[in-house]
Amino acid sequence: MPAAALLAIGLVAHDDKKAALVDWSVAHQAFLSRHRLYATGTTGGRILQALPDLDLTRLRSGPLGGDQQLGALLAEGLLDMLVFFVDPLSPQPHDVDVKALIRMATLADIPFACNVATADLIVAGR
Ligand code: PGA
Repeated sequence: MPAAALLAIGLVAHDDKKAALVDWSVAHQAFLSRHRLYATGTTGGRILQALPDLDLTRLRSGPLGGDQQLGALLAEGLLDMLVFFVDPLSPQPHDVDVKALIRMATLADIPFACNVATADLIVAGR
């Protein structure tokens, strides 16, 4: 059986959702450990605390350009999947960057999860 393709996966969570993304990452560590991961700075740091052996590149913090860095990867066709746990109950100072990232993920037509249930389904389908 051929080896599963290596995917480039983006991981982002707003502050109130970071614990959920860490829990999700731990639950799916066997899947994540087979792929190349890119995360915004703070999110990536939290995930690496829990799972230090992952192949995870930390970008800038989201509000300081990290969301746009993920958007640039999408624009270049270099991201295959995005898990972005957004907080629908808190205003975000970098809302324009959040909207831009969601727009680029939609435009790129990649598997894109904004919540745990959808992220679970994507992994189950892989
Ligand atoms: P952070 O960025 O992981 O650096 O907190 C996430 C975000 O875009 O809010």
